[in-house]
Amino acid sequence: MSDFETDYLVVGAGATGMAFVDTLLDETDAHITMVDRRDRPGGHWNDTYPFVRLHQPASYYGVASTDLGQARIDQNGTNKGYEELASAPEINGYFQSVMKDRFLASGRVNFLPMTEHRGGGDLRHVLSDKAMSVNVRKRVIDARVCENGIPLTHQRKFDVAEGVTCIPPNFLPHHAKDHQHFMILGAGKTGMDSVVWLLESGAQPDQIGWVVPRDPWTINRGFSQPSGAFYQENMGGMARQMQAVVDAGSVDELALGMEEAGIWMRLDPNVTPQIMHGPTLSRAELQRLQEVPDIIRMGHVQSIESDRMTLAQGTRRAKPGTLYIDCTARALGHSNTWPIFTDERVGLQMIRLYQPTFSAALLARIEAMPMNDKARNALAQPVPMTDDVQSWIRSQIVTLMNQNAWSQVPELRDWIKSCRLDGFGRPSREVDRDDPANRALFEQVRNLSMPAFANMQKLAAA
Ligand SMILES: Cc1cc2nc3c(=O)[nH]c(=O)nc-3n(C[C@H](O)[C@H](O)[C@H](O)COP(=O)(O)OP(=O)(O)OC[C@H]3O[C@@H](n4cnc5c(N)ncnc54)[C@H](O)[C@@H]3O)c2cc1C
Repeated sequence: MSDFETDYLVVGAGATGMAFVDTLLDETDAHITMVDRRDRPGGHWNDTYPFVRLHQPASYYGVASTDLGQARIDQNGTNKGYEELASAPEINGYFQSVMKDRFLASGRVNFLPMTEHRGGGDLRHVLSDKAMSVNVRKRVIDARVCENGIPLTHQRKFDVAEGVTCIPPNFLPHHAKDHQHFMILGAGKTGMDSVVWLLESGAQPDQIGWVVPRDPWTINRGFSQPSGAFYQENMGGMARQMQAVVDAGSVDELALGMEEAGIWMRLDPNVTPQIMHGPTLSRAELQRLQEVPDIIRMGHVQSIESDRMTLAQGTRRAKPGTLYIDCTARALGHSNTWPIFTDERVGLQMIRLYQPTFSAALLARIEAMPMNDKARNALAQPVPMTDDVQSWIRSQIVTLMNQNAWSQVPELRDWIKSCRLDGFGRPSREVDRDDPANRALFEQVRNLSMPAFANMQKLAAA
């Protein structure tokens, strides 16, 4: 016999679980139970490094019902001129407030922290080991699919000899003053943030070494600004992006075209990037990264000893007393996908590329619609996380197919239009579409969209 009953059991109270429940509360009258191994909502943001900020403006991150930040334009720093980002304390405070003031206050959400889901309706309290069982009347929502690997908790894939100090970036602000040399391991967004933090905190570029196993493409944050004030810039960027896609004869040409269009950026014009994980940077951040002269392109780190670092393609002598900063965790690793809606389970995945919280909220809207799961899955093809340009093209195709499917359903179209998490659509809703310059850009993008889509399909199949 079960200990209690609920309509939905949501496993994981990270950003995606929170975004899903928030919309489900508005769209249904269901009772919801959320469980998380952690002691509070917010998922990986609770364990992240202290200088982290969102890649994207805060005004379209989080849950649909509640603003995060005030959409102010930053007046200084490396994000100057763009909408404010959010720090980890802001994000964690936000999710805690959404849980307390909205979810629990509704009387329809039960939150069980420090509770592990063991499959079906079986739960276990992490501290007491006490088992509980829940009878789930509708479905289990699996909000762990996008679970992030983070440096604090991931399993390192290299050896560190005794006496070498190798830390996750969480401890960098505390340890930095005791060292003269810093070696950043990894070229994802965490590695980039660590380099920028050191430089902005007064380290000189020649104090920093940076292991970049594969160079990344990065996205220019100038083109992800969600207000009408940026319409010309955004739509102009979109038109150039589509033209680049139309003109590309190969995957490599597409990447170079995106760079020429000002949308993608790279660390070094002489090195062709091999990975595309979607990190978003301002030009000012990129310029800071480019100040570092010692970029080590010798593959992944295998071991670190007091006088040397062994990498896949050779050995590097190490300066004594170097502080190694481990930024090698893979943040979003889910490149495999599977149907989202199945008989008893909804497996939250992205349905718009690089937008996990928008995706989760929209999935709750689709869950609430009176249709069968075949129809739901037709509106929600999962978008895999990207690894390189080829996989970026494939994921863009799925994103565009989903968007086309949503545009055919008036309820979804209206919901998306009014959703604060739809940062991409907002600029065009906030401008005068009859203004000739705005209209011309809109038409240009519209005319390019079909040929761009067709060429993406060709390139993806090559
Ligand atoms: C540095 C960084 C910056 C980012 N910036 C952005 C950004 O600007 N914009 C953006 O859209 N995204 C960004 N992301 C991605 C962002 O974190 C996503 O929102 C991501 O999908 C996290 O949400 P999640 O809920 O899926 O996963 P998590 O935050 O990992 O939460 C999953 C939760 O599930 C719990 N759990 C797992 N298994 C169980 C179990 N068996 N029982 C109970 N609980 C369980 C875990 O304890 C965890 O709390 C960023 C990520 C990183 C690392």
